[in-house]
Amino acid sequence: MLILEYLPKLPYWVEALVDASVLSIIIFPIIYTQLFKPLKESIAKNAENEAKIKYERNLFKALFDNLPDAVYVKDIQFRKILANPIDLQYMNVKSEDDIIGKTDAEVYNNDVAESSYTDEVKIFKTGEAIINKENFFVDNNGKVHWMLNSKVPFRNSDNEIIGIVGISREITEKKKEEERLKLLESVILNTTDAVVITDILPDAKVKTKIIFVNNSYCKMTGYTLEEVIGKSPSILQGIKTDKEILIQVKESMDRFLPCHFEVINYKKNGEEFWTSISLSPIANSEGVYTHWIAIKRDITEKKQLEQDYIEAKENAEAANKAKSEFLANMSHEIRTPLNSVIGFSDMLHKTNLDDTQKLYNNAVFQSANSLLDIITEILDFSKIEAGKLEIDISKTNIQELAYSVSNMISFQAHEKNLEVLVNINHDIPKYIWIDSLRLKQVLINLMANAVKFTKSGEIEFKIVPINKLSDNKYQFRFSVRDTGIGILPENQNKIFEAFSQEDASTTRKYGGTGLGLAISKKLLLLMGSDLQLTSIPNDGSTFYFDITATTDSQIEPEEVTDISKIKHALIVDDNANNRLLVSEMLALKNVKTNAVASGKEALEKLEALNDYDLVLMDFNMSEMDGIETIRQIRNRLKLGADKLTIILLHSSADDEHIFEACRELQVAGRLLKPIHIQSLYDCIAKAGLPFKEADKVENAFSYVNNKQVKILVADDNEFNILLIKQIVKNILPNAEIFEAFDGKKTIELFEKYQPEIVFMDIQMPELNGYEATKIIRQKSRDKHIPIIALTAGTHEDEREKSANAGMDDFISKPFVVETLEAVIKKWIDN
Ligand code: ADP
Repeated sequence: MLILEYLPKLPYWVEALVDASVLSIIIFPIIYTQLFKPLKESIAKNAENEAKIKYERNLFKALFDNLPDAVYVKDIQFRKILANPIDLQYMNVKSEDDIIGKTDAEVYNNDVAESSYTDEVKIFKTGEAIINKENFFVDNNGKVHWMLNSKVPFRNSDNEIIGIVGISREITEKKKEEERLKLLESVILNTTDAVVITDILPDAKVKTKIIFVNNSYCKMTGYTLEEVIGKSPSILQGIKTDKEILIQVKESMDRFLPCHFEVINYKKNGEEFWTSISLSPIANSEGVYTHWIAIKRDITEKKQLEQDYIEAKENAEAANKAKSEFLANMSHEIRTPLNSVIGFSDMLHKTNLDDTQKLYNNAVFQSANSLLDIITEILDFSKIEAGKLEIDISKTNIQELAYSVSNMISFQAHEKNLEVLVNINHDIPKYIWIDSLRLKQVLINLMANAVKFTKSGEIEFKIVPINKLSDNKYQFRFSVRDTGIGILPENQNKIFEAFSQEDASTTRKYGGTGLGLAISKKLLLLMGSDLQLTSIPNDGSTFYFDITATTDSQIEPEEVTDISKIKHALIVDDNANNRLLVSEMLALKNVKTNAVASGKEALEKLEALNDYDLVLMDFNMSEMDGIETIRQIRNRLKLGADKLTIILLHSSADDEHIFEACRELQVAGRLLKPIHIQSLYDCIAKAGLPFKEADKVENAFSYVNNKQVKILVADDNEFNILLIKQIVKNILPNAEIFEAFDGKKTIELFEKYQPEIVFMDIQMPELNGYEATKIIRQKSRDKHIPIIALTAGTHEDEREKSANAGMDDFISKPFVVETLEAVIKKWIDN
């Protein structure tokens, strides 16, 4: 009875009619069409409307809930009456129930609520919507959200405002991106470098055009923005712009490679300027290159400075060269007269002089030698400074070098009563490859300083291998230790500087130029080493350096000295280090040793028991000297030469006093300190032989030859000729000497007299020594006469030059008698 449910309550008569089935057939269609059908249609329409409303409501809800923006509705009292899920999220609530009926003041912080309230009041007042207004708010987690807010009035059907509909979109990321871009833009706009952006067109034939320049570009070039936009970037190029560079740039650009270059550009007014340009291609998100960005910097000033620097450097080099040449010339000029001073005072020494004359002459000799040292140092220093000094490595007998260095200073050392120890580790190979000349120079300087600055005590020169780098490569440590005045810590760096001494009083007290250490340091740097120092004031100093050198693998036959008959030796020396050193040297030959520090102890030991084959007796001991001790051994203990062999250790300074005593006391040998290991063995080996009176006072000239020889001396300095003549006459009393003052005369005399030896100065008028030698060699091919170069130059290459010119030997001026003597002996005996 579905239909009946919809029927209105019918009057009784109708009911009766209905019940009358006859009537129902007639009446029902009428009732149906007149009453029932419209009613049914109206009911259906209502249902349809309702479904539509429901559908629309659902649609709205789906839309509302799923919008990516926050959407809300507020009533006229600013209370939320609707909020979508995004809005709920911003308010940090889970359900609409938590905020419906609440105002912003109850949900957000004051600032947000207030700003929102102000906007909404305005809308209510004016009826105008607020569209896309940017606001930010800080959420409960402290996160900043930038929002794009729109609010429109919500009106009823009478057009009265009954609330607000709002929609907010989060734009934080966009905002950040905008700020980043703004920052980049401001960097580009405000940087002092000019920035140019050009486009890259797909058609390579169309030239790139400027699409952007910053203010600095306009300032740098004088062009306005309008003048350059759309133009080619080449508008700045001109006649002096390096075309080669432009070609290279083009090549890079064709391959989209970034590049950097420096060229001359031109301003709008034609003025040229240097610019450095960094060019980089810019690609879009698909990796397609779309633009070039060029950063240009005006480097005119830098280029000018570079140019000034190059000029200054060239000037400085020229000045330095002039200085070096001047120094070399000056040194040559000074060395020539010095040659006479040193040579003649040396000669004078060998004549009969009284004590005062000897003293004066000594002063002349020593002063001249000091002057020579100073000149040599200055010359060396200027050579090193000018980078002209080269290291010349040769095979060097390191022990010989060490002893020759120590011998050079031993005289001064012993005069001051200083003990000199040469401590060469027995592991040191005999030969190493090194610049022996320069190493010797450094060591002599260190040793001479050690003597100079030490009043009492000892000087130890030590070489030890500290590292074996390969089979024949070692690192050696060279050190010179003294017990002298030491150096204050604050001055320990200063003294390595040129012309620097510890303090101003040093020159007055000790002399010197303050150049020695500076030169030594630089020489060592050239050898890949460095001079170092440890020093304690009033205690002493140790200067040391490490050198890496190759040793010579070729084994030289050992000089075998047989001292096997010596089994037990007594060492008597008041210097502990020397006792140790000598006993170590003897231990290498399996000699057992005892060592005592005084003559008294030695006598006690020998008195108790003489089971020694040998006594090594130091001469210079404080209480009782060596000679006195030996005297007591011989006389009181009655130990004669047949019972006990004694060797005396002494220094050259003591010579005259002890020669006699040694003869008298039958001392079997004398050894000069510092003790050379080989000479110790040799001396011991010889000591076993019958005692010989070998020590004679030396002749003034140890070599004299009565041969009749013709000698030609060529030198433009008459004193030098005189000096050579004097020396030659002493050595070769029967020599005939011819003198030439220039190169031409030398050749003339050579042809005329056919001498057997020629001494040839290098720097002479007319023809110099090299030229004269060459001519002589050409003219007398059949006969080779020794020609000896005499030069005041010290350059190593002068030796080479003279050899190349055909000379046979080389003497550097100033020379001493012994040098000339040795050369004459060598060539005459030949
Ligand atoms: P010079 O000895 O000609 O003055 P150096 O360059 O050789 O020049 O030495 C510089 C200074 O270093 C010396 O003047 C001295 O003050 C100090 N010095 C060098 N060696 C020693 C040393 N062994 N003991 C104390 N002072 C030293």
